[in-house]
Amino acid sequence: MKNNDRLKNVKPGTVAILGIPFDENSSFMKGPARAPRKIIEAMSSESSNMSTEDIIDLGVEPRLLDLGDIEVRNYLDDIERAVSRVLERGASVLSLGGDHSVTYPILRAYGKKYKNLNVLHLDAHPDLYDQLDGDPFSHACPFARVMEEKLAVRLVQVGIRAMNPHQHEQARRFNVETVHMKDWDPSITLVFEGPVYISLDMDVLDPAFAPGVSHHEPGGLSTRDVLRIIRALEAPVVGADIVEYNPCRDPSGITAMVAGKFLKEIAGKMLG
Ligand code: MN
Ligand code: MN
Repeated sequence: MKNNDRLKNVKPGTVAILGIPFDENSSFMKGPARAPRKIIEAMSSESSNMSTEDIIDLGVEPRLLDLGDIEVRNYLDDIERAVSRVLERGASVLSLGGDHSVTYPILRAYGKKYKNLNVLHLDAHPDLYDQLDGDPFSHACPFARVMEEKLAVRLVQVGIRAMNPHQHEQARRFNVETVHMKDWDPSITLVFEGPVYISLDMDVLDPAFAPGVSHHEPGGLSTRDVLRIIRALEAPVVGADIVEYNPCRDPSGITAMVAGKFLKEIAGKMLG
């Protein structure tokens, strides 16, 4: 079934899973383009079941729909358009990257619909470079573009442990709220007013939990920390992406299982 045919099944209230097989803006390693189907496979693996921890069986949930992978020829336009088409139908998007550059065009689509969007960004890296190696669309830059275009009223970054002076300055310039990993305490609760979008870079996890990422940054969150952050959100979650899973560095498939777990629990959260 083609993507356009599946789009007809997207009704108001649907959570649409959208694969974005794109890693052209990765600065260090390719691989995340192959992530979307690997994460779906892991989630659907017979080694587990499709129920969330709140005992919602996603296997029989008609409001969760996998739209398959989109075709990305033009990075900005194709991703923004694919997301806009889902949002226009009153549905929300849970996308599987792809490198982290995909979040900028996704949030351009969200910005047309939501004027008061909060972004919760879980990552080892702030991704606030003005440009990296001359590339303003690098996966190290999306949140600089997002804040320049005022696509988020608040950007809260959690798990950060690779900030440099340039990005520190950028964070100050854009009023980014940073929860540095060195200050992390599991009792920290994040309070938002209005809709929340979650951007989840798999490298927010300690590499011990998730080695299948391009940039290993030791000293990160545990799988349970991330689940607790998501579960504790009281504001409505209107969209999310899971990015930077790199199957090339995941021979055991453990990181795919972690990403599949996040996919289930975020979908459960979005479905309420
Ligand atoms: Mn990132
Ligand atoms: Mn990262």
